[in-house]
Amino acid sequence: MNFMNNEDVIAALATPLGEGGIAIVRMSGNDSEKIITKIFKPRNKKLTELKSHVQYLGNIINPESNQVVDEVLVSIMRAPRSFTAEDVVEIYTHGGVVVARKVLELLISLGARIAEPGEFTKRAFLNGRIDLSQAESVIDVIRAKTDKGLGLALKQLQGELSNKITELRSVLLEILAHIEAEIDFPDEDIEMLSIDDIREKLKSVHEEVKNLIAESDRGKIYREGINVVIIGRPNVGKSSLLNALLREKRAIVTDIPGTTRDIIEEYINIGGIPVKIVDTAGIRDTLDEVEKIGVEKSKQSLQEADLILFVLDASEGITEDDQQLLTYLNEMAKQTLIIINKVDLDNVKIDKNDVEKISNVDKVLEISAKERTGLDLLEKTVEEMVFQGEVNAQENIIVTRARHRQAFIEVLKSIEEALHTLDSGMTGEFLSIDVKSAWENLGKITGETVEEDVLDKIFSEFCIGK
Ligand code: GDP
Repeated sequence: MNFMNNEDVIAALATPLGEGGIAIVRMSGNDSEKIITKIFKPRNKKLTELKSHVQYLGNIINPESNQVVDEVLVSIMRAPRSFTAEDVVEIYTHGGVVVARKVLELLISLGARIAEPGEFTKRAFLNGRIDLSQAESVIDVIRAKTDKGLGLALKQLQGELSNKITELRSVLLEILAHIEAEIDFPDEDIEMLSIDDIREKLKSVHEEVKNLIAESDRGKIYREGINVVIIGRPNVGKSSLLNALLREKRAIVTDIPGTTRDIIEEYINIGGIPVKIVDTAGIRDTLDEVEKIGVEKSKQSLQEADLILFVLDASEGITEDDQQLLTYLNEMAKQTLIIINKVDLDNVKIDKNDVEKISNVDKVLEISAKERTGLDLLEKTVEEMVFQGEVNAQENIIVTRARHRQAFIEVLKSIEEALHTLDSGMTGEFLSIDVKSAWENLGKITGETVEEDVLDKIFSEFCIGK
């Protein structure tokens, strides 16, 4: 792999565009210190050399006009003790688009170039400071939607997954070394692994990889969240329910992947799962008549839902419209939770058991969005439905990315092949091919064996400045 060109100095705005208290311009590369010393005048005139990892107050001066561009704080993080493992300079300017951009332009005029999306993190990876799974977790930390998601991303950043991969790879390497030795020096009397030892070791790797794959569905949910659609006739209390679920202002706002930062989605946090409630406001009015369910938009959001919350109004009984909607939902066979709302009223006309009889829906719950009763059970039920009843699984390493999951699936296949080969009495090169393939696929996760286009794809998810 040779795609390093860190003679280039890269620079970018590291904070979001817009007005803020401060903005940070970041620069990385061997010459970044040379560039900053051309435009930074520290307040302390006696200063001859800037120390690493210390912040200095001073002015950025335009060397051509000699004018002050901004009063700033500057710090240099010298290689290798920096984010990229190269010399990194951070300039804290006043918040505001113009100031930060002027500083950035100065850096460019002195030889830096604008960083590509994710290029700082990519350099950290290429320079060996972090491995690929850690680099990926940087973006997951930034985009985490709940504390739980953040916790998983931080564990990955700290190398939990990497360590597991290293451990599994070393077991496979030991087997490989043994096979190679046997092929090359069949008569040497070295301490060898027996066929049974090899089988046991392969089986233990198999078991661990299988568990990692099993946990990855859960990981994906924590990382990406789920789509929930709230549906029901007008006035049954859908908005009230949504507001009640948001009661502790647990909605968080996040950027979604893409090049721009301007698409924002709102999530509520249910037991650590980021739940995106699909706003049915636009389609709500069409739902009073079931024929209109044919309306493409409502149909589509139901199709895309991971879970449907169908709300009934206890005081109105099950109306004709409700019936038909229910029939439609039954046919769709999506995970659905029926919520009988307004049970605080005196004239409750719906019996939970009756609803259970007429639907093949997974669960029926009674709540009052107004009095906020039944909500804890509702949240718990959602959690159970999402994880198919396995909410309290152990806190193992949780694989959150499809890319990792895919690699683990390949590993599992190769190990199964290898075990098959062993069972049919063959060893040597036949065995070595499969074990090697498993070893390589594990390496794809940490980036030891990965193609450049995969790297490009991974880092293109990042925003500029990261
Ligand atoms: P939507 O059209 O389905 O979104 O319904 P809304 O949330 O706007 O609620 C319609 C009306 O029902 C409002 O006047 C709410 O205050 C009332 N409402 C909603 N939930 C409850 C509840 O649990 N109990 C009572 N008594 N009224 C409720």
